[in-house]
Amino acid sequence: MEPVMDYTGGLGQRPQNAMVLLVDDQIMVGEAIRRALADEPNIDFHFCPDPHDALNVATQTRPTVILQDLVLPGVDGLTLVRAYRANPATRDIPIIVLSTKEDAVVKSAAFSAGANDYLVKLPDSIELVARIRYHSRSYLAMLQRDEAYQALRQSQQQLLETNLELRRLTNSDGLTGLANRRYFDGYLGAEWKRALRERLELSLLMIDVDHFKSYNDAYGHMAGDEVLKKVASTIAGCCDRSADLAARFGGEEFAVVLPGTPAGGVRLIAEKIRRSIEALRIPHRDSATAEWLTVSIGMATLMPERLDSYTLLIDAADRGLYEAKRHGRNRVMTQ
Ligand code: GH3
Ligand code: MG
Ligand code: MG
Repeated sequence: MEPVMDYTGGLGQRPQNAMVLLVDDQIMVGEAIRRALADEPNIDFHFCPDPHDALNVATQTRPTVILQDLVLPGVDGLTLVRAYRANPATRDIPIIVLSTKEDAVVKSAAFSAGANDYLVKLPDSIELVARIRYHSRSYLAMLQRDEAYQALRQSQQQLLETNLELRRLTNSDGLTGLANRRYFDGYLGAEWKRALRERLELSLLMIDVDHFKSYNDAYGHMAGDEVLKKVASTIAGCCDRSADLAARFGGEEFAVVLPGTPAGGVRLIAEKIRRSIEALRIPHRDSATAEWLTVSIGMATLMPERLDSYTLLIDAADRGLYEAKRHGRNRVMTQ
């Protein structure tokens, strides 16, 4: 199982140091700020003197704060601020603009372009460091929170998938993948009640593999299991409607619930299943019925009455199956 949450927020890969990217065409400014930060622990510094490279460098160096000069040759600093904001890799990085003067109009333009802070060059180093630390810390905290949130969402998704898989496993038969007996009972019970409410008929097929004991004896239990899988998928392939349910009733017996199918249609489906299994031509040398594997099918259709139970339908289909066996197997019969 994956750990639910990594509270280091992946910061193993991302250094916890502040990473300052300065974009300024004046080498002198670059030097001055480098010097101001040189003795500061946990602050790394990267200088980009060419504004045309700024976005690229910002994407690669992954700064925790950008110091952005406003007046640059060929590019307006505010245009760059907007470009950082428009780029998914740099969208949330705090930006401190460096202006030449304290000017309300420039300041307002800088903030509306997306800057987070405004300093006049060259700032006092104590103030510069304090602001760098403040913005870096809040940026790193945001990344950490986003990663934790992402991890939480992933683990919730996993839980959802695990629950679905668990439900599938509790409802299905391990060998054949059809609905299991438990699910079949619930489904038949619910359909029985619905048919009672809506005054509809409900039909059931009970399907039993003929001479399956002697098949196991002749070919082995493993080969017998393979046959059960083939029989199951053939039965499922004959049930087209979404309300039809094919289930493994137990051992080499299968059942099909057919809600809302008239008796004539039920016989057609039963015959189709019987023929399709015969058509698999699975050799069965010890069968007293045919040279290949066959099934017998009992069929019942009932209109539920108020005090009846759905077991009536199972009993009726079982009696049909008994008749099919008695009349020579490989056939469909009602009671
Ligand atoms: P009939 O034609 O009267 O139905 O004869 P049959 O031999 O099929 O009936 P019987 O009830 O005597 O035998 C059923 C056999 O099905 C016996 C049992 O070992 C086998 N069987 C039941 N479940 C499984 C299974 O999961 N795998 C395998 N390989 N065989 C199974
Ligand atoms: Mg049986
Ligand atoms: Mg059998």
